[in-house]
Amino acid sequence: MSRTVSQVVGIDLGTTNSVVASVDNDGTVVVLPNANGGEITPSVVYFEPDGTAVVGEEAVQATAVDPENGVQLIKRAMGTEFPLRIRGQEHSPESVSALILRQLVIAANGSQDKVSAVITVPAYFGHAEREATYQAGVIAGLNVLELLDEPVAAAAHYGLTSSADRAVLVYDLGGGTFDTTVLRISGGAVQVLATDGHHSLGGADVDQRLIDLILERLGDRLLPDELDDIVDDKKRLAELVLDAEAAKKDLSARTSRQVIVRTPAGRTSVTITRADLDATCGDLFDTTAEIIERVLRTAGLEGGRDIDDVIMVGGSSRIPMLAARLKAMLGKVPRLIDPDLAVAKGAALRAHHLAGTPQLTALTTVRGRVGGGSRGTGQVTPVAPRAVGILVEDSFDPSGKRSFVEHLIAANTPLPVRRIEERFGTILEKQESVRIQVYEQAGPAPSPEVGHNRRVLDGELTQLGSLAAGSLIRITIRIAIDGRLTVIAHEPESGRELRLEAYVEGVVDGSETERLTRLVGLTKVRG
Ligand code: AMP
Repeated sequence: MSRTVSQVVGIDLGTTNSVVASVDNDGTVVVLPNANGGEITPSVVYFEPDGTAVVGEEAVQATAVDPENGVQLIKRAMGTEFPLRIRGQEHSPESVSALILRQLVIAANGSQDKVSAVITVPAYFGHAEREATYQAGVIAGLNVLELLDEPVAAAAHYGLTSSADRAVLVYDLGGGTFDTTVLRISGGAVQVLATDGHHSLGGADVDQRLIDLILERLGDRLLPDELDDIVDDKKRLAELVLDAEAAKKDLSARTSRQVIVRTPAGRTSVTITRADLDATCGDLFDTTAEIIERVLRTAGLEGGRDIDDVIMVGGSSRIPMLAARLKAMLGKVPRLIDPDLAVAKGAALRAHHLAGTPQLTALTTVRGRVGGGSRGTGQVTPVAPRAVGILVEDSFDPSGKRSFVEHLIAANTPLPVRRIEERFGTILEKQESVRIQVYEQAGPAPSPEVGHNRRVLDGELTQLGSLAAGSLIRITIRIAIDGRLTVIAHEPESGRELRLEAYVEGVVDGSETERLTRLVGLTKVRG
C-alpha cells in the first residue's frame, strides 16, 4: 500500500510551540501547515463550553481571557502525576498532549488514521517523561515509530548524522528553555555524549530585560506614578511585552530600533540598540557559556578543539551576539538554518528513514551499523539520560534507619546496558521479603540522597523462607535501547524472582490509557 506524504511525519512536540514535517515524493523535507496555514502551532489547548478542544493560536487568545479552561506548558508536567479537571473531564499531561498531537496530525493529514510518527523529546527526558510522551502518541491514535532526542533530530536536519566521525555541539535556545548537547557521530551512528541546560532561561528572559530597560529609560521622562500606571495596567503591560519581543526580533536583523510606548502622558518613543540588548542580557548569555563549558567537561572533551560542528536551534539562537560568542569560545562558525523548524524537519527525515525502509526499522532495537541510504539519518545510540539505582538500607547505620540510593547505571551510559550486582543482601534473620525500589536521578547531578532521586519502580520479593541475615539478593538491571527499564531481583536459595518493568511511577496504567484514549477520541478538536 502506498502511503501519502503526510502519513509519515516528524513531530516536534515543544513546550511552547509544535511543528509537523514530512518528506515529500521528491525527497524534500516540508513543514506541513496547521489549520491556519501556519508552520508553527502554539502547544496550547483551550476547552470550549461544549468540550471541544481548540489547539494553537486561538487557544492562546482564549486561555489569556479564561485561563481556567486552558492548558499551556503541559510538556513540563510530562511523566508526573498531574491530574487536570477541565469542564468536568479528568485529563492528564498525556491526554492534553494527545489532543495537541491529534490536532497537529489532522491538520497535516486530513485525519489521524494510519499516521506513523517520530516524536521528539529533550535529551534530558527520563523514563517517565519518555513513557508519557509515547503514551500521548498512542492515545492520539498514532503509530509511534520512535521517540527521538531533539538534538539528534537537529543534527539530522543539518545533514550531520550520517557523517563519518564528528563531535557536534547542539545549542538550543528557545522561548523559555536552554539545552545544549554534545553528540558523537561515528560511522553513521549517533551517540549523546552529554546533555545539560537551564529549564527557565530563554527568549522570555531577554524580553523581560528589554522591558526593564525601556521602563528605566522612561523613568527619566515620567513621574514614578506614571511608570507604575504602565506596569499596573494589564493591557498596557501586555502591549509592552509584545512590543519588546518585536523589537528584540528586529534587533537580530538591524542595529537599532524605536519602541513606541503608550504612557499616561501620551505616546513616547524609546530607542534601543543591539548593543543595549547585548549589554542588558550579558549575564544571561554568560550562563549559557558556563553551561557549555560544563557539558564539554561532562562529555570528556577539552573544549572547542574537540568539537567539529556547532549547530544552533531554537528561535532565540537568531540573536547575533550568541553566534559571535560561540565562535569566540569554540573557534568554529556556528550554523543556523531554520532554527524553529530544524527539530521537526530532522524528525521527518528519521520517520521517512524508519517507515520507508523496512529492514532499517529493526535497527531501532538492534545495535549495529546502518548501511546504505545516502540521505539516511543514521542510527541513533541513545544513552541513559539519568543515573538509575536502587534504594539500599545502610547496614552500618546503628539506628537502622538510614537509606540511600546506590546508582548502578551512570547517567550518559550508552544503551542498551545490563548490570548484574551481587553486593546486596537481606538485613534481618529469617527475613521473609525484600522491597525493591528503583530510583532515578532527579536533580542535575547524581546524589545518593533519597530526596534527590525519584522513584520509578517499586515491588516486593516475597516468600523467601528462613534465610540468614546477609543472604544474597542478586539484582539485574537493564535499560533497553528504547529506554525501557527492567529490574530483576533474584534470591538463589529459594529461587524466588521479582521482575519489575511495566510500572513507571507517574505514568498512566493500561486501564487509564484506555479511558484517556476513549476521552481523546470522543473530544472534538480544531485548530
Ligand atoms: P522556540 O521556543 O524555539 O519557538 O523560540 C521562541 C523564541 O524565539 C521566542 O522567545 C522568540 O521571541 C524568539 N525569537 C524568534 N525569532 C527571533 C529573532 N529573529 N531574534 C531573536 N529572538 C527570536
